[in-house]
Amino acid sequence: MKKVCSFCGRPESEVGLLITGMNGCICGDCVTQAYEISQEALGHGADSQKKKETSGLDLKKLPKPKEIKEYLDQYVIGQDDAKRYLSVSVYNHYKRLAQQADSDGVEIEKSNIIMVGSTGTGKTLLARTIARLLEVPFTIVDATVFTEAGYVGEDVESILSRLLQVADYDVEAAQRGIVFIDEIDKIARKSDNPSITRDVSGEGVQQGLLKLLEGSMVNVPPKGGRKHPDQEYIHVDTRNILFICGGAFDGIEKKIAQRMNTHVVGYNSVQNLQQIDKGNLMKYILPQDLKTFGLIPEIIGRLPVLTYLNPLDREALRNILTEPKNSIVKQQIKLFEMDGIKLEFDDDALEFIVDKAVEYKLGARGLRSIMESMMMDAMFEAPSWETKELRVTREYAEKQLEKAQLPRVE
Ligand code: ADP
Repeated sequence: MKKVCSFCGRPESEVGLLITGMNGCICGDCVTQAYEISQEALGHGADSQKKKETSGLDLKKLPKPKEIKEYLDQYVIGQDDAKRYLSVSVYNHYKRLAQQADSDGVEIEKSNIIMVGSTGTGKTLLARTIARLLEVPFTIVDATVFTEAGYVGEDVESILSRLLQVADYDVEAAQRGIVFIDEIDKIARKSDNPSITRDVSGEGVQQGLLKLLEGSMVNVPPKGGRKHPDQEYIHVDTRNILFICGGAFDGIEKKIAQRMNTHVVGYNSVQNLQQIDKGNLMKYILPQDLKTFGLIPEIIGRLPVLTYLNPLDREALRNILTEPKNSIVKQQIKLFEMDGIKLEFDDDALEFIVDKAVEYKLGARGLRSIMESMMMDAMFEAPSWETKELRVTREYAEKQLEKAQLPRVE
């Protein structure tokens, strides 16, 4: 008798494989199809897998706030408060996304963050470091490039184009992403009073940004910009995108001090005033100080988590030089090691670098440029050396830096 597949009826000659059973046969194609159907029914199918990936995250597998902070500790020195806020916010963001999958009516609201701290204290570094750990698309944008629509510069919507790019144009994924907006203070309006004239880089941009922060449907031009007027926009819902903002807010300490002075009256408060850490007023920052600085109240309301970064003191700078996993010193040692040279730094040479960074008022950013100019000669010559060792002493450091003559920042 001619054997045929009992499912599709095709003869053995038409199918590559025909498996014979007790009362019938099945061909290879039908086996595959049956497998797919059974997987689908059990909820393991390709489609349902995709749905799972896009709608919810498995909280059990995601790093807990403590683990996120421990990871940040490896790369960023100090700034414990900011690290804690950031870890919790990112974890809560995951929770929101996971919760949406099993909606039981309790909607967790989004908590966008704002980090305030002088330049070079680690805001961008925190954002970049956390990005490596994230399970969702992440991008960093600079608020200084935004101008009101119609002016030269980028529209606020371009934030979403970047996020889409990182998400490989997977709109679903982009809608769950995290955006770090750097230099948010640069779009503050120049005075606390609403302006009558148009303020290209201030209030108009804040209004645009507000739309994104609030959660709305935004039309984003497709890849490479819109070439024709009839080209379709991509619709992106910003409701689930987490925004982290960072800014130096230069001079905000003065405003904090003013507020504290004017508010602190009466016997009790005089006592409180004595306990105030005047060296670091930033830690007393409140949302109203951001308003005095020129952010509109609506924006502040949409950034409910406010945290600060400490100014870096001498000790912090010294630690930054050697402690982080990819510290400047470790990087130098690695560079020389690749030429087979053992590089060593004397302690007082490192102290000297820190002294110079403090003296030149260059902060953490300066450590790198001081190190680079100090090592320039050695980096040029060492690969051709016979000797395979280099010890950087304080004298060597002083001599090299004198030669390099770094510009002094006043
Ligand atoms: P900003 O606060 O202006 O965004 P960055 O994060 O860009 O500052 O810091 C500039 C550089 O200074 C970083 O690349 C890093 O090398 C160093 N740095 C600043 N703060 C820290 C810190 N807390 N820990 C380790 N390195 C830091």
